[in-house]
Amino acid sequence: QVALHSVHKRFGDVEVLKGIDLQIEPGEVVVILGPSGSGKSTLLRTINHLEKLDRGSVEIDGELIGYRRRGDALHELPEREVLRQRTQIGMVFQNFNLFPHLSVLENVIEAPRAALRQQKAAATEKALDLLERVGLRHRANSYPRQLSGGQQQRVAIARALALEPKVLLFDEPTSALDPELVTEVLDVIKNLAKSGTTMIIVSHEIGFAREVADRIVFLDAGQLIEQGSPEHVFSSAAHPRAQAFLAKVL
Ligand code: ATP
Ligand code: MG
Repeated sequence: QVALHSVHKRFGDVEVLKGIDLQIEPGEVVVILGPSGSGKSTLLRTINHLEKLDRGSVEIDGELIGYRRRGDALHELPEREVLRQRTQIGMVFQNFNLFPHLSVLENVIEAPRAALRQQKAAATEKALDLLERVGLRHRANSYPRQLSGGQQQRVAIARALALEPKVLLFDEPTSALDPELVTEVLDVIKNLAKSGTTMIIVSHEIGFAREVADRIVFLDAGQLIEQGSPEHVFSSAAHPRAQAFLAKVL
């Protein structure tokens, strides 16, 4: 279970997150919608402590992320501890971020080898299964530059799964892709949803959001202004700013 409690974040004078409370249950798929600049990426980045918090907390299965509590105060964890925690939190970015000098297979086994000290044979077997799941087992020995954007993103998803994270975060996973490559990536994510993977997804693909989300969360100017089932949010969002956004995208 992922629990955000009163998460505040400011950059200089701008308060980007103004007290976010959000709980995600195991197996739940939450899609975050909201206008550009509303704080969606920042919110995802606080979950794996790529951003420090000004106030509030993030917990995964009861473990505080990025900090330890001492009395009433929170103290930042050493980098080594944060890296260990991040192995439980998979992240897939807009721009794939694969290692260009490593093959597809090497990209997928890198983290389990380095972070979890898995044996090469075991990590390889697992990686080939994951590549099978994203339809790319036959490209295991290719290099990222030999793949299409959609294929690279599917490798990035397999790589994120290799650590068996408790939650997977996606930040606009298809927005850098040519339109004809979007579906293959969304299909992989839909299959993960069916198999019970806990996911938090920032996406502007409204049809996809409607199909895959257990819950839609609407962020506006750093505040969570509306949430509910896709049916509820798309048909009867109450907040005027959510209505205005949806009127533009639906
Ligand atoms: P988009 O849909 O365009 O990706 P977003 O909802 O993901 O937008 P964020 O990237 O979270 O929005 O940014 C929220 C606000 O915080 C923006 O005003 C942005 O300029 C600002 N911001 C984000 N990161 C930083 C940073 N490292 N330093 C300063 N300001 C930042
Ligand atoms: Mg963003």
